[in-house]
Amino acid sequence: MANVRLDGLYKRYEDVVAVNDMNLEIEDGEFICLVGPSGCGKSTTLEMVAGLTSPSEGTVHISDTDVTEFPPKDRNIAMVFQNIALFPHMDVYDNVSYGLRLRSVPKDDIDDRVGRAMEILQLEGMLDRMPAELSGGQRQRVAIGRAIVRDPEVFLLDEPLANLDAKLRVHMRTELQRIQRELDVTTVYVTHDQAEAMTMSDRIAVLNNGRLQQFAPPLECYDRPANLFVAGFIGSPSMNQVHGRVENGVFESESFDVDVAESGVEDDTEAVFGVRPEDVYPAWRTEDVTEWSRGITTTVDVMEPMGDEIFLYLIPERLSRRGDAAVIEGEEGEQQTLLMAVDPDADVAEGDQIEVVFDRTKSHLFDAETGEALVHSLQPEPPEVEKGD
Ligand code: ADP
Repeated sequence: MANVRLDGLYKRYEDVVAVNDMNLEIEDGEFICLVGPSGCGKSTTLEMVAGLTSPSEGTVHISDTDVTEFPPKDRNIAMVFQNIALFPHMDVYDNVSYGLRLRSVPKDDIDDRVGRAMEILQLEGMLDRMPAELSGGQRQRVAIGRAIVRDPEVFLLDEPLANLDAKLRVHMRTELQRIQRELDVTTVYVTHDQAEAMTMSDRIAVLNNGRLQQFAPPLECYDRPANLFVAGFIGSPSMNQVHGRVENGVFESESFDVDVAESGVEDDTEAVFGVRPEDVYPAWRTEDVTEWSRGITTTVDVMEPMGDEIFLYLIPERLSRRGDAAVIEGEEGEQQTLLMAVDPDADVAEGDQIEVVFDRTKSHLFDAETGEALVHSLQPEPPEVEKGD
């Protein structure tokens, strides 16, 4: 059991800053995910915790001990990688016990630890199997078993499920959570998959360009994203983001206007309005919405039936009136259509005109210059309630 602390951690390569001033405090027994797009510095951060890469600056503490200069073997960590490297000519028992045998751990002790790991991993009865006789998920569990028997203080996992097929990946997510809870061991898990991070972790550390963007529980990242990057990265499909300006208490854009007078955001602010697809409603459904914006007339451009819901790509009337395809498509990938999620039985077709409203309590404003969140509701924030334990 151990806490992990990263203080002012940097990793500089010749022309890149792979990790830029990382500060993280991971609690004892916590399961955290480092998540972000490819190249954002997740693996480099994990490797610095493991001792496989030395930081250019900053420190790593495990169990309140400064381990920055310690080699990996003295850190009491175990790592599982994306590529499962089992020895093909050894059976499960020999694969799992390999590290312990190298360190001349007594045979009885090895048998105890392997037995317990097999139980946790639900691999009992498979000790004699060769890797070729195992499924992908079982092979991954054997690799985890090899990490478990070392009885580490900290588990480090780098995209361990990336090579598994989609169904098995979802199953293994639940398995890993169960295993982690049973072992109650501090875990740092690297993934580029925001859904994996959302479902598995106690807290998510969202990274971009080597920098920490937000470190919070999954739902907080989802409901109260710290900035535009987190708003766009967490959640699928992404939050709608529309550029505009706040003037006289109204957010004005090329697509629509929204009254933001009660949000406390000052006039003359270049802002980005954000709303998740599930917080956009057809105006006929407003009985479900506690607080909604004024109706916006739109045309259904494209429908994407997903089975449990339908995604509608809507073109606000104001944009289509301008009649210019380039305006509708937006410049440099800037979003102009509005994405809305509706029930699968909704009576809509491409080309239909529909009026939509936003849930004002789930509408966000971001500073267009810095990207930082300004408000997460257009209603005045309710007074803070004292939280009891
Ligand atoms: P992620 O795991 O998020 O995909 P990495 O931590 O692997 O990202 O890499 C972060 C950045 O550092 C990338 O731009 C990558 O190209 C760079 N980088 C990683 N390792 C090295 C290295 N050994 N030499 C030079 N650049 C590296």
